[in-house]
Amino acid sequence: MSTITYIGLGSNLGDSRQILLEAVQKLATLGSVKTSKLYQSPPMGPQDQPNYLNAVVQLETDLAPLLLLDELQRFEQESGRVRLRRWGERTLDLDLLVYGQEHIQNERLTVPHAGLFERDFVVIPLLDLDENIQIKAQRLKDLPVVQHPSLSVLDDETWSNI
Ligand code: ATP
Ligand code: MG
Ligand code: MG
Repeated sequence: MSTITYIGLGSNLGDSRQILLEAVQKLATLGSVKTSKLYQSPPMGPQDQPNYLNAVVQLETDLAPLLLLDELQRFEQESGRVRLRRWGERTLDLDLLVYGQEHIQNERLTVPHAGLFERDFVVIPLLDLDENIQIKAQRLKDLPVVQHPSLSVLDDETWSNI
């Protein structure tokens, strides 16, 4: 049985646009995908790092949550990700934002992703994919962060179809 999941993509090192494009192609090997618009956003955490490119992918997959996380972490490694500092610069971050209606809490995984409601760079692209999306009974379009987003649109949802 397949589950609708949402994956947050971010990159601010290397050829970020190419890295995100390749990430979408890899995610497409795990199930059917739809892509949000492509955004640029200021960094979270340390401010002495480049802006991020961000997007969200809706992935319908048969993979169980931890097996999906294994794949996401493999894709991060394949992009050359190195851990420098918390919330620091990286070639690729793939976060499991939502896995169906499931609430997951273990040493490797918190789903829905912690901090999701406060992050405009995930909330806004989630709304591209489903304008009525609700997470933990919260309608995302009602969140304060939607009113004054700090991110800008770089390209429409066809950015990954080239
Ligand atoms: P944040 O999770 O606040 O966005 P980050 O993405 O920079 O920070 P990472 O270094 O990518 O954090 O991941 C650190 C750990 O977070 C991973 O080892 C992973 O086990 C754990 N983790 C917990 N919940 C999730 C989730 N929903 N998606 C991805 N990783 C998660
Ligand atoms: Mg992250
Ligand atoms: Mg992460």
